[in-house]
Amino acid sequence: MGSRVLGEAISSIRDWAVTEAKEPRIPRPAEAFGSLVFSDEVQQTRLPKPVYHALRRTMTHGEPLDMSVADAVASAMKEWAVEHGATHYTHWFQPLTGITAEKHDSFLSPTSDGKAVLEFSGKELVRGEPDASSFPSGGMRSTFEARGYTAWDPTSPPWLLRSGHETTLVIPTAFVSWTGEALDKKTPLLRSMEALSKQAVRVLKLFGSTAERVVTTCGPEQEYFLIDQYFYLSRPDLINAGRTLFGAKPPKGQELEDQYFGAIPDRVMAFMSEVETELYKVGVPVKTRHNEVAPSQYEIAPVFENANVATDHQMMMMETLKRSAPKFGLACLLHEKPFAGVNGSGKHLNWSMSDDAGNNLLGPGANTHDNIQFLVFCTAVIRAVNRWQGLLRASIASAGNDHRLGANEAPPAILSIFLGDMLTDIFEQIEKGGAKSTKDGGMLDTGVLVLPKLPRDAGDRNRTSPFAFTGNKFEFRAVSSNQSIGYPNIVLNLAVTESIDYIATELEKAVKGGKTLDQAVALLLPKVIKENKQIIFNGNGYSKEWEKEAAKRGLLNLKNTVDALPQLVTKDAITLFETYKILNERELHARYEIMVETYNKTVNVEGQLMVLMANRYILPAAFEYQKDVAQSVAAVKSAGGKSVEGKKMLNGLTKLVDEFKRRTDKLAKTLEHEGASAEKHAKHFRDVVVPAMSALRETGDQLEVVIPHETWPLATYREMLFIK
Ligand code: ADP
Ligand code: MG
Repeated sequence: MGSRVLGEAISSIRDWAVTEAKEPRIPRPAEAFGSLVFSDEVQQTRLPKPVYHALRRTMTHGEPLDMSVADAVASAMKEWAVEHGATHYTHWFQPLTGITAEKHDSFLSPTSDGKAVLEFSGKELVRGEPDASSFPSGGMRSTFEARGYTAWDPTSPPWLLRSGHETTLVIPTAFVSWTGEALDKKTPLLRSMEALSKQAVRVLKLFGSTAERVVTTCGPEQEYFLIDQYFYLSRPDLINAGRTLFGAKPPKGQELEDQYFGAIPDRVMAFMSEVETELYKVGVPVKTRHNEVAPSQYEIAPVFENANVATDHQMMMMETLKRSAPKFGLACLLHEKPFAGVNGSGKHLNWSMSDDAGNNLLGPGANTHDNIQFLVFCTAVIRAVNRWQGLLRASIASAGNDHRLGANEAPPAILSIFLGDMLTDIFEQIEKGGAKSTKDGGMLDTGVLVLPKLPRDAGDRNRTSPFAFTGNKFEFRAVSSNQSIGYPNIVLNLAVTESIDYIATELEKAVKGGKTLDQAVALLLPKVIKENKQIIFNGNGYSKEWEKEAAKRGLLNLKNTVDALPQLVTKDAITLFETYKILNERELHARYEIMVETYNKTVNVEGQLMVLMANRYILPAAFEYQKDVAQSVAAVKSAGGKSVEGKKMLNGLTKLVDEFKRRTDKLAKTLEHEGASAEKHAKHFRDVVVPAMSALRETGDQLEVVIPHETWPLATYREMLFIK
């Protein structure tokens, strides 16, 4: 079996190379960009002027949209879509499952004379009604109010989804219940952006800015694995759990680190180019591609955008990666840890804030005034991460990310901020009340604040930090490759909102009391820094010493999902979410329940899969080999010989096979568990099932390295990771 899959993989690589040589694809990024987007440009040319301006006002100022405007927009949208071959439209939304959902409706509408016309009304654009009852709501929708509806989000542009010969107009929407509760990730994200804007504008006003709005910006860097599709299809664990549940480490691991930023294999390059072209067409500004640290691991990153659009685009990016891979005979793995013992995948969430003129609030400026403002916003983020570290940790918690965080390759489960030496030094000076000079030529003169040019090159970065300042933005690195950036974005926005609110209130008070703004800042920042500097750590986040040091500092170390999730529903967290009207208690609890449920379901599926693979794949192979060895020993004996080593081998193998069977049965037994509550169930999974899975895997991996290649039923790490 092993060799059959291998043979198929090899011929698929050869077939691909032959086709590619015959019909090379020539990407044309500039022409393609945005060609399938109902963009601002398209809107300008297709909408009557007053309609266009009304729509703009809705987009930039959140003004309610008139039905007549909606009708006009819908009609232009439909015409544009139909010209591009669309037959259907869909309200596209992000339910609490972690993926996106869509229900397609035809533009076709029968007329009384037995014919049909293509129609799309403002009403259909603005509101949709998917059959929502099977989306998780965490108990928010009892059956009598089971309906939810989708509401058009005019701030994220519609686009055309091409799938085979089908073209569909995709309308980004929010998903809410009839009682107005958010059933998705977009609604609270939009609320959190609004809340942050309101507070940030207060601070900007103190600095004399006339900005009316602040937007959060983000650019997520996505890591992923690509393996040959034949290997993928031959492994039930990859298909059903997204990660390998068995698999011995290959002799060649990533010790050599010869892959990172190395040459990209041809087939992978062709895949990347296809993904980029598809993403360009739908307006996703992809910018960067390269090899990652692990074998067969890669990264793709866009240019940053408004966080709402960036979140939609991130979902489109993940879908495009998965959808495009089979065209090249590949499978794309977005799981956080597809291969044990090999680096996992993350998603670095680059995050900042910018005013409506596009000024980055986390970019140190050229003059004193700008620099003071920068330090105020930077301090707000430091305070936010320290104060809401538990919540941030919970926002990235999942069964998959548990394999990654703190596993000596990814950021630890402890939240801390890397500021770099220069900025740390500046903050230390400020805390002391504004000393004269800082390291590296920076100066904090009496009243005059000159910041040194902060380094922005990658060499200076500390890759072990879960939350790093990188020159003009923060980078939340503990986010997982497989998750929507919705939650971490919401929580980060909210935490910073609360922090800016606090700072704005203090500064406003001081200024009202007669202080100059500079004096007010000079009084407030040292205090805030003193209270929150425990979160700043520039050292090696992977080290054991840091764990001890962090414990001394009193930082949270929530090592797994089960420990982390309750942070979502602490009294403080509920108050925080309610104060800024991001989620009410019910909405928040619903998310907590769904996340616990998802953890339970994930581990349960993995456990069941392991039992299945053990009994139906590995054990039969092990017995077959055991029989071969036994027969060979017996044959030697009946021929009058004595197979000393053969006998030893047989004994060793028999022990291993027996152990494997015992551990399989034990795991099966642990899975027969009824939790009194979802939380108790989760603890059982963490404390009993997960260890039983590890134990079974250990024996399985020992079997893999003794059973002959021909007999071993699963594609191996060596094949999956190194045959490209
Ligand atoms: P690097 O310094 O890591 O090479 P890049 O400038 O290439 O950084 O940025 C990495 C990611 O961060 C990209 O997705 C980029 O668009 C994003 N990014 C850059 N500036 C900002 C910002 N102001 N807000 C949010 N994301 C940003
Ligand atoms: Mg980065």
